[in-house]
Amino acid sequence: MLNAAEIKELKNILSTPKNIVIVTHWSPDGDAMGSSLGLYNYLKQKKHKVTVITPNDYPSFLFWMPGNSSVIDFSLKTSVAKKTIAKSDLIFCLDFNSLKRIYDLGDEVAAAKATKIIIDHHQQPEDFAKYLLHTVDACSTCELVFDFITMMGDKKLLNKDIADCLYTGIMTDTGSFRFPSTTARTHQIASELIAVGANNSEIHNLVYDDNSESRLRLLGYCLSEKLTVLKEYNTAFFSLRADELKRFNYKKGDTESLVNYALTIKGICFAAFFVERDEAVKTSFRSKGSFDVNLFARKNFNGGGHKHAAGGSSDDSLDESLIKFIALLPEYKKQLTSKK
Ligand code: 5GP
Ligand code: MN
Repeated sequence: MLNAAEIKELKNILSTPKNIVIVTHWSPDGDAMGSSLGLYNYLKQKKHKVTVITPNDYPSFLFWMPGNSSVIDFSLKTSVAKKTIAKSDLIFCLDFNSLKRIYDLGDEVAAAKATKIIIDHHQQPEDFAKYLLHTVDACSTCELVFDFITMMGDKKLLNKDIADCLYTGIMTDTGSFRFPSTTARTHQIASELIAVGANNSEIHNLVYDDNSESRLRLLGYCLSEKLTVLKEYNTAFFSLRADELKRFNYKKGDTESLVNYALTIKGICFAAFFVERDEAVKTSFRSKGSFDVNLFARKNFNGGGHKHAAGGSSDDSLDESLIKFIALLPEYKKQLTSKK
């Protein structure tokens, strides 16, 4: 968390116009884009020059967010992004805990002379910034951006644009206010955001009712053909090969949240999803109860995240990754079958 002296320093830095860059993690999700654009809309009001830079592209169900059209995708506009970073006074790093999470963009951030600030809620953040606004107790980075605006004494600047963005990240990172990370405070903040104009019902429509027909058919295919349930380990998982993605006309975001369906089976406390991407096999892990998927992903799949939601990757083939995953389960049997 930020101490009183740091808050004062940051207030002072933000009291005059600055060149500010906001970066967020690879394959940005609702919280990554919501926190970045929420902060963007706040800092713009304070007369800063602000640029949001993502490492790569993100799902089209997030394109409606205010400020989206000014976002720079580093993988497409690398030289503009590099120049903007080199010129910046301040870089906000939102919703990630390690520069590895932003790949080549991380080299630019590391090399930049700008003052860096991390705002994040993932476990075990690395030490690459001067300022750290971090707690794993926050339901989302959007909650921490709300706190940041409050700490800067600027709650009066909260408006509909900021609120729409922050509400989106809180909604998506809490699974629509259902995960254990949802607290009384989460609802209080959501209430304040609605009070200043966040259109909660419309945001649910924009984010969740944006399916293409092929996305829904892909979901049906996964559920009926691709789900493996291992009762002995209270574990269920799916996997998708590249040819299957192609068959269902895969678009960015189409497999987001798929892993959660496996966790809705009664008694299942560990769910996994493996998908074949160009660069590697991407893994998603979710859990309920005491099983810690952050530790599992860190140890076995070169990843991390939160206790109940984490991800990683594997350089092995999809089949080899699945064999490895299944072979690991006996080691975790006690944790997966304990009643807690
Ligand atoms: P998802 O499964 O939705 O991609 O990610 C779940 C959570 O784990 C998110 O909070 C995300 O930031 C984190 N995460 C996903 N992939 C990785 C990874 O490769 N490395 C780390 N450290 N975190 C990840
Ligand atoms: Mn998040």
